[in-house]
Amino acid sequence: MFLNLITNTKRILKYTLLAVLIFSPTLLPASTKIVVKDIRYWSSSDYTRVVIDLSDTVKFSKNRLSNPERLYFDLINTTISKDLKTSFSVEGGILKNVRSGQFNSDTVRVVLDVREIVDFNVSVLDNPPRLVIDIFGKEEAKKQDTMIAKKRVVIDPGHGGHDPGAIGLKGLYEKDVVLDIALKLKIILMKKKTYEVFTTRKTDVFIPLEERNAIANKKKADLFISIHANASPTRKVKGIETYLLNWTDDEEANKVAARENAISLEKMKEMKQQMDDLGVIMNDLERQNKRDESIKLAHHIQNSMVSNLNNVYKNVSDLGVKWAFFYVLFGAKMPSVLVEVSFISNPEEEKLLSKDFYRLQIAESIADAIDKYFISIPTVQKVSY
Ligand SMILES: [Zn+2]
Repeated sequence: MFLNLITNTKRILKYTLLAVLIFSPTLLPASTKIVVKDIRYWSSSDYTRVVIDLSDTVKFSKNRLSNPERLYFDLINTTISKDLKTSFSVEGGILKNVRSGQFNSDTVRVVLDVREIVDFNVSVLDNPPRLVIDIFGKEEAKKQDTMIAKKRVVIDPGHGGHDPGAIGLKGLYEKDVVLDIALKLKIILMKKKTYEVFTTRKTDVFIPLEERNAIANKKKADLFISIHANASPTRKVKGIETYLLNWTDDEEANKVAARENAISLEKMKEMKQQMDDLGVIMNDLERQNKRDESIKLAHHIQNSMVSNLNNVYKNVSDLGVKWAFFYVLFGAKMPSVLVEVSFISNPEEEKLLSKDFYRLQIAESIADAIDKYFISIPTVQKVSY
């Protein structure tokens, strides 16, 4: 009886093993497949951003078809989440429909039906892994009254919600400081009557990085300014620096961008290789022809902050205008910069950042810089070609 049991057990085990072997070609790869978790979008009349959320970094092919215009992406070694809505229509903008499905056993295909495509850009971002697709249509002609139209500024206070950003030794949170500066800046600009001002968040909420300039693109903003407080493991490092988007070999600048992107420095380097292969960032900068304008804006902000704050506080460190690959600037259609207003990791500057008056001075300095920037560019540039 006992022996029989063992034999039976062995037999059962044998058949179980056989079953696993038989089914393993389909079962095992399924467990290692990357899951297509969600598809999000922002769409306006001449632009859309679609984000495909994934469980891991994916290899993909991109394809374009005409009549009707559509893009499709085959995501290699992927499976589709059963929670994902596989087909939906989008009203009003350039994006018409989003369709996705398991094209074959290891490929998910995502199809985007679009009204028109002048250009498009695809990039892979990490933490969380996602594919970001920007599609550009023909820009609408600006109205005749553009010459007197208000300038539209989108201010982006970094972090929020579960993401506190950098934290000072005394417990000051970057997300709180930058929100306060952004709201102060909005009030100052609104008083001038020449600006329309939006903030990407008004309260302590989390907003994904790719959503922030998508909001600005959708609103057809003239400027996008992301506000942050800096941090360094070396507590004595202090000062102000302003960034624009580009790749750099500057290790310190890359460290700042890696921290703001919430990825490791190694991952930044991997991404550079990946994006270089796609030629993504140069396309992005050249198509929108915003690099020179972003440089001008960055210098106005940097100079204004350093000189205004130096009038009151001695020895303000001017760390200058730099560039690095910040997710939050990537894909912005307008001149866009990221300001690191001071170091929250430096005890002296954390103390200053905790003070209402210091934050107000930062906001006033940025507002002055925005004024100077718009005065410096000929209004005629705003008229559509
Ligand atoms: Zn930050």
